[in-house]
Amino acid sequence: MPDKKFDIIVIGGGAAGLVAAVAAGAFGAKTALIEKEKLGGECSWTGCIPSKTLLSAAELIEKLRQSPWLDSSALIERNNLLESSVMEHVRSTVKAAAQASKAADLLKRYAVKVIIGSPNFIDRNTISLEKEKYRARHFIICTGSSPAIPAINGLEPGFLTNQNIWDLPQPPKSLLVIGGGPIGVEMAQAFHRLGTRVELIQSRDRLLPRDDRELALELGKLLAEEGIKIYYNRRVEAVRKLAKGWRIEGVSESDQPLEADELLLASGRKANLEGLNLEAAGVQLSAIGITVNDYMRSSVKNIWAAGDCTGNYQFSHIAEIEAKTAVMNALFPLKRKVNYQGAPWTTFTDPELSHLGLTEEECREKGLKHQVYRHSFSGDDRAITEGKAEGLVKMLAKPSGQIIGAHILGPRAGELINELILARRKKIGMFELGQTIHVYPTLGLAVQRATDEWFAELAGRPLVVNLIKLFSNRV
Ligand SMILES: Cc1cc2nc3c(=O)[nH]c(=O)nc-3n(C[C@H](O)[C@H](O)[C@H](O)COP(=O)(O)OP(=O)(O)OC[C@H]3O[C@@H](n4cnc5c(N)ncnc54)[C@H](O)[C@@H]3O)c2cc1C
Repeated sequence: MPDKKFDIIVIGGGAAGLVAAVAAGAFGAKTALIEKEKLGGECSWTGCIPSKTLLSAAELIEKLRQSPWLDSSALIERNNLLESSVMEHVRSTVKAAAQASKAADLLKRYAVKVIIGSPNFIDRNTISLEKEKYRARHFIICTGSSPAIPAINGLEPGFLTNQNIWDLPQPPKSLLVIGGGPIGVEMAQAFHRLGTRVELIQSRDRLLPRDDRELALELGKLLAEEGIKIYYNRRVEAVRKLAKGWRIEGVSESDQPLEADELLLASGRKANLEGLNLEAAGVQLSAIGITVNDYMRSSVKNIWAAGDCTGNYQFSHIAEIEAKTAVMNALFPLKRKVNYQGAPWTTFTDPELSHLGLTEEECREKGLKHQVYRHSFSGDDRAITEGKAEGLVKMLAKPSGQIIGAHILGPRAGELINELILARRKKIGMFELGQTIHVYPTLGLAVQRATDEWFAELAGRPLVVNLIKLFSNRV
């Protein structure tokens, strides 16, 4: 095959694109990966890694600050020390994580040709990049997303997004956050804990509207108690840039303008599709990104898409499963639908909020017969010993015990949900989970405790009551 002809060309080298290119190469396809900047994508450079590093540093400070048995004056001194270097710590961790990544080695091992640049489509089999033409039997578009900048009067350069916030020399004295989704909420808590005065403005009646209502409301309450001022049901129409900082009017109840040194926009994402000239290939777009079917195929037979650029769930783990699905379907005749496995995600606040499958509201909307089973961390030994007894495990199951959804607000909920993802996928129900030993005292035991309610409810069902009566009469 000539040098510029490939079986598969992947466009975009982030979470989806790296997985797609490595998988295609590993299956023996002649593969090229075209990335416009540097391999790694949003998650590595400006998303997951820096945000989780900042949250972890902030949690450490908060733990020290709240420890009842430590001298608080020493703490404050230490806190100041950390604050001045925390952003540098974030930047060096991002670099360390990039160095630790095996992506470049894997691309090399599977002979994936990496090309730096921004290509544009000429037709459904050809792209052009810096006067060169490249042809492929299949394309997989994985160009990701960027912060959507809302149409707000008075907005001018100088505001922060997830792309430039990591360049701050230190946490700002004060911060206005527009948007109560995962990015806004995580950043609000992290900076608040690092000493920033944070006010968050959310257009809806709660934070994290895609999460379980009860748990999202509870998280909003906890964040407010911690000291973050949250304004609900407020849409920012205009901002004013001051000599130093920003002003937003018409948000607070008292009509006092909100003012802060920095303004963070976290009110949505838009698919990165500019410059690709997808029209030339006939690829259909929707308002949120590239339209794909359940097989990750676009409206054009040989063009596939995965990750944030489809505008579906915008998470790294989902980008990866979509990428694997697209590669398999591009290469093999037997097509498989993408299996979102309950589309789990976690918001990494403290406490964390994890989501799997349907919420209570969704079950009601769909008219699904279900029961809710809870275990509160307030009665959980491990959570108490860690001083983190907030939140609860909430499981939604059919009367048979089959899990339809699980939502956890609590310490390390992002780890705990993995057991339930597997259980839901493998149809392990409440009975089996409840019968499975969970080590004491671990946070994971909270999942087993939630199943106790199911057993209690089962024991009260008429059939079971009658059976028990029947057998007890015989003894
Ligand atoms: C602050 C923040 C925190 C996050 N935290 C989490 C988290 O904790 N967990 C989680 O699962 N997800 C998290 N996410 C979401 C996650 O980062 C994305 O879902 C994920 O990066 C999507 O992967 P992708 O491959 O679709 O896009 P990306 O990772 O953005 O990769 C796209 C790549 O395509 C390249 N590209 C763009 N246009 C072109 C072009 N025309 N030509 C060539 N290359 C191009 C880009 O340079 C980029 O490298 C977070 C996001 C943000 C912003």
